[in-house]
Amino acid sequence: MECARSLGISYKRFMGWRPTDDDAAEWDETERDWMRALRMYEQRVQCPLCGMDVQFCHDEDAVRHTFAGGQVEICFVTELREKAMRRYTESGVVKNPHSQTTKLIARTTE
Ligand SMILES: [Zn+2]
Repeated sequence: MECARSLGISYKRFMGWRPTDDDAAEWDETERDWMRALRMYEQRVQCPLCGMDVQFCHDEDAVRHTFAGGQVEICFVTELREKAMRRYTESGVVKNPHSQTTKLIARTTE
């Protein structure tokens, strides 16, 4: 469902649906209900911090029973983006500090 939404298509199209004379509407009531249900789930059930069900992650006993602990890991893509943004902000030319984004530069094989 999340994949379909990220692609901007209905769940049934994601699963292979194609329009036919009998079923021509991609975004019928069922598909709209699926997306509403997904949004409701994300807003009411899914924790905005960890992405798990709040019934679980807000239950300290359940969490401690399931996990032995946590560890710090590094996302090296985010690290590259942070370094690029730091170079940019240190350049002194930042006019609108909340409008920047980053783009990764692929290595060429030549
Ligand atoms: Zn959580």
